[in-house]
Amino acid sequence: MKGKYDIIVIGAGHAGCEAAVAAARLGSKVLLITMDMGKTAQMSCNPAMGGIAKGQIVREIDALGGFSGVVTDASTIQFRMLNRSKGPAMWSPRAQCDKARFSMNWRHILENTCNLDIWQDSVTEITFRESSISGVKVSMGAEFEARAVILTAGTFLNGKLFIGKESTDGGRIGEMASYGLTAQLTSMGITAGRMKTGTPPRIDIRSLDTSVFDIQKGDETPSRFSYLPLLSSVQRSGRQRDCFIVHTNKTVHSILESGFDESPLFTGKIKGIGPRYCPSIEDKLHTFAGRDAHQLFIEPEGWNTNEYYLQGFSSSLPFNVQMEALRAIEGFSEVKVFRPAYAVEYDFFDPRQLLPTLESRVVPGLYLAGQVNGTTGYEEAAAQGLMAGINAHLALSGKEPFVLGRDESYIGVLIDDLITKGVDEPYRMFTSRAEYRILLRQDDSDVRLTEKAYRIGLADEFRYGYMCRKRDMVRRCVSFAEETAISPAEANEYLESVGSAAIENPRRIGDLVARPGVSLEGLLDRVPRGTSEAFDAALEKEVKAAAEIDPSSFDAMRATLSMPWIPCDVNIAEKAPLKSVEADIRASVVEAAEIAVKYAGYIEREKRAADKIKRLEDLRIPEDFDYSKLTALSIESRIKLERYRPQTIAQASRIPGVSPADISVLLVFFGR
Ligand SMILES: Cc1cc2nc3c(=O)[nH]c(=O)nc-3n(C[C@H](O)[C@H](O)[C@H](O)COP(=O)(O)OP(=O)(O)OC[C@H]3O[C@@H](n4cnc5c(N)ncnc54)[C@H](O)[C@@H]3O)c2cc1C
Repeated sequence: MKGKYDIIVIGAGHAGCEAAVAAARLGSKVLLITMDMGKTAQMSCNPAMGGIAKGQIVREIDALGGFSGVVTDASTIQFRMLNRSKGPAMWSPRAQCDKARFSMNWRHILENTCNLDIWQDSVTEITFRESSISGVKVSMGAEFEARAVILTAGTFLNGKLFIGKESTDGGRIGEMASYGLTAQLTSMGITAGRMKTGTPPRIDIRSLDTSVFDIQKGDETPSRFSYLPLLSSVQRSGRQRDCFIVHTNKTVHSILESGFDESPLFTGKIKGIGPRYCPSIEDKLHTFAGRDAHQLFIEPEGWNTNEYYLQGFSSSLPFNVQMEALRAIEGFSEVKVFRPAYAVEYDFFDPRQLLPTLESRVVPGLYLAGQVNGTTGYEEAAAQGLMAGINAHLALSGKEPFVLGRDESYIGVLIDDLITKGVDEPYRMFTSRAEYRILLRQDDSDVRLTEKAYRIGLADEFRYGYMCRKRDMVRRCVSFAEETAISPAEANEYLESVGSAAIENPRRIGDLVARPGVSLEGLLDRVPRGTSEAFDAALEKEVKAAAEIDPSSFDAMRATLSMPWIPCDVNIAEKAPLKSVEADIRASVVEAAEIAVKYAGYIEREKRAADKIKRLEDLRIPEDFDYSKLTALSIESRIKLERYRPQTIAQASRIPGVSPADISVLLVFFGR
């Protein structure tokens, strides 16, 4: 069996799916090889997408023309916008998903993408001809030819699973590990290390007494991830599934502690480093020894299943200890478990050996994305996959690389952090990692990124045209707020209702929106008809036009997204009801305009700071620069710069240990 491709993607996880679809849609001939097609885009752990900073990443992927947002929307069973009480830089969308549908929806997209073939087997070797990549070999002996390979093998490389004293080889429970690739790549000079992560038990909700739990509901008016005018499954059906909240107690803790001497974490069997911010329950007991209780979330894994995920109870303790501890939680005395908690240890590769395109500096033509780069999380993986897919295609077509800046996207922050600083524990995104948070909000990733994706050919005409209309509507709405005055008689009742001081003279709407607690929507409702009619009419007209999708482009979109085998309440192929789409578009325009008006000062300040740093991004350092001749640099800096080999002065400034004084030395040397 032989086949010739431009690009081979290894692994159909979150990174692999985005990589394969992006490269194929750009025009490369792609083969996606994965160990088990039935596990496409498997949510190995939490049945949820998004969350703090991660939700912003999913929106960015969507704005760029990736599919994680669309798939999430089609699979959503509960939606919440987290951090609403904080500033908009912190608002983060999160969707609980139907795990099985998430996987099937991704598979449907893969199977309906032109230029994309799929093959089920395990890749055991990357092949070379005259030191250039020539393809891959798989375990059953088949060989496939390609000019570039994207490796997205997740937690599978030499993967080992642990429950108590038991350990077995595997990438996830019930799935084989992958062998051969780490040995081959390390023999070529790529540095590998070990990391670990874990997952909690899945339980049968029928065995719990849910009446004693607190209920966590979805938002009353749920939003969604994709900027496309397609309603999500919960927006369309008006239904959401509830989560529950419960707490551990002292008895649970002492039962868990009784198993510590059998825990692979504490007996030294697991050597890999785990995620500090997503610790196992035994880690939490160890670190916060004085705490009497830890919060747990009980989250449904789908629309029609009794299987629930117990967030916060990740563990690698023996199964009998897990069971005994679970039974001691209030409402859990009769608990039945579908799948136990376990930990997995796996190989990753040092991301400092990557270029900003995610191509290996050591093995040209090889791209790495996802968990293999030391990250954790579906969103981080999907973002890297998308960027690797785009860049592998661009490189083969002889085009300029596609790299996003730290001031443009969380994706830019993620990749820059990985390749500049490397990882010493599984890397997940936080808002605190981004220095320009107010520029990287979830409401306007489309305005930031869609045009860039359109220029390289990934975002299509429809998406681009739609973004332009929305951008114009927001501008119109902002100008209206800035130019229109409102009188005390019109505004005061509303202002007082939200606890804001009454006004004595007419004031511009924009000035009032800048006050805490005052919303643009609230004031728009009170503008007298004579004033607002022209604006309202124009906005309504635009909204209608945006919702009235050109049938030919809708058909094109439908061809990619249609999922006829999904029950109709989540069938995104159906055109959404016009009225709901209009209401949704209007709400998103007014929200984006309100943020632009309320935070104009902060946004401007961050833009200026980002522009300053941008000048340093343009100052390139030659690849083979000899730092030893710059004796004015501190010794620590010289060692770090030699090791990390930053491509620009801005990147050098982000390396821990390189001080502002050292940056001045570099600036002087390079003539600034
Ligand atoms: C037990 C467990 C617990 C986790 N806990 C958390 C958590 O708490 N929080 C969190 O954020 N993330 C967690 N994760 C990680 C999360 O699942 C990953 O971050 C995410 O799935 C990574 O996506 P990926 O595309 O890089 O890899 P994966 O989703 O792992 O996909 C890798 C794919 O590659 C395929 N593959 C591997 N090797 C080969 C090969 N040689 N040939 C062909 N195909 C191959 C596999 O079959 C799989 O389909 C956990 C993962 C596991 C397994």
